Amino acid sequence: MDNQNNQAYEKALNRLNEIERLPNKIDNKNDIKDILENNGISRRDFMKWAAAMTATLALPSSFIPLTARAAELAGRLPVVWLHMAECTGCSESLLRSDAPSIDSLIFDYISLEYHETVMAASGWQAEQNAHNAMKKYKGDYILMVEGGIPSGQSEFYLTIGAHGQTGAQNAREAAEGAKVIFAIGTCSSFGGVQAANPNPTNAMPLSKVTKKPVINVPGCPPSEKNIVGSVLHFILFGTRPSLDAYNRPTWAYGHRIHDLCERRGHFDAGEFVQSFGDEGAENGYCLYKVGCKGPYTFNNCSRLGFNQHTSWPIRAGHGCIGCSEPNFWDTMSPFEEPLANKLYATSFNGIGADKTADTVGVVLLSATAIGIAAHAAISAVTKNKE
Ligand code: SF4
Repeated sequence: MDNQNNQAYEKALNRLNEIERLPNKIDNKNDIKDILENNGISRRDFMKWAAAMTATLALPSSFIPLTARAAELAGRLPVVWLHMAECTGCSESLLRSDAPSIDSLIFDYISLEYHETVMAASGWQAEQNAHNAMKKYKGDYILMVEGGIPSGQSEFYLTIGAHGQTGAQNAREAAEGAKVIFAIGTCSSFGGVQAANPNPTNAMPLSKVTKKPVINVPGCPPSEKNIVGSVLHFILFGTRPSLDAYNRPTWAYGHRIHDLCERRGHFDAGEFVQSFGDEGAENGYCLYKVGCKGPYTFNNCSRLGFNQHTSWPIRAGHGCIGCSEPNFWDTMSPFEEPLANKLYATSFNGIGADKTADTVGVVLLSATAIGIAAHAAISAVTKNKE
């Protein structure tokens, strides 16, 4: 291990020891060993998962035992999960699987003090639970917020519970007592579909509603690895990870989908699907010309896939729609047309709007290169501030 990794290792080890030493404030009756065993997952499988998660977090392999320990300690940290204006897809993607993955079991094990989708309470009792948890664990809990937040004069569009509290008020109040705050999903990170033009409820991302720092974990939905990995990273280090210009952890959002895409060889060879269902599609060619936004999208889907590596949109035959980028509903649509067509039309004030990706390839590549360079520069500045 080099010096930097050595220091990080020591820091993580000390932190895990400290979490273990402190009296456990959580009334969590679950035991992760039992949960795994009851679901037919052996210790060996768990350690393999820890190795994969360590690599996902961009940590050296010496951290594998620490990652496993962090997962075992995940039940000691209280989590408050709020729902704003959204479809609950971020929670559902993690919770609703036939055969639960280790990520979803860890998520079950995490002490979710308040989560509207999974808790038994409803109505008054649910509201009371939220207030009790925020009071009891003030300054200690992890806050995760899903959904865009109607704000300003339109705040009332999201009114929750009998007291007429708005979602924005709830989010602000919960953020006040939180130790660390994650915006889960694109709606909470950037406003999402609620904030798409014409944004009738003036929906905002969480970071515009609270003054406290927010770590964005976007995606529609984000992968379970990025959600669970965010919690584990916090348990390991107790600080914010290195972030990019949009406050996304660079361990998850540091590379473009395009960089590691399994169809990349076809892009480089100029082999494209021209229309859905054609021979190119049968041959697994690149989906750029049928709208793939992988060259402009930062996320780790091409490395991790979804549903325990089963598949992901590009493998299934549809291009990336850029769902982890800000304002993607407006900027990346139409989803089944190359972005270069739109870039060309808008960049030149409509002149040449009839041009296609074929004729503007050079413009696209230059724009992409400039975009990537700017992103890298801003990310570097952000990183240095950490
Ligand atoms: S354009 Fe899309 S499908 Fe083609 S290589 Fe890039 S990410 Fe993959």
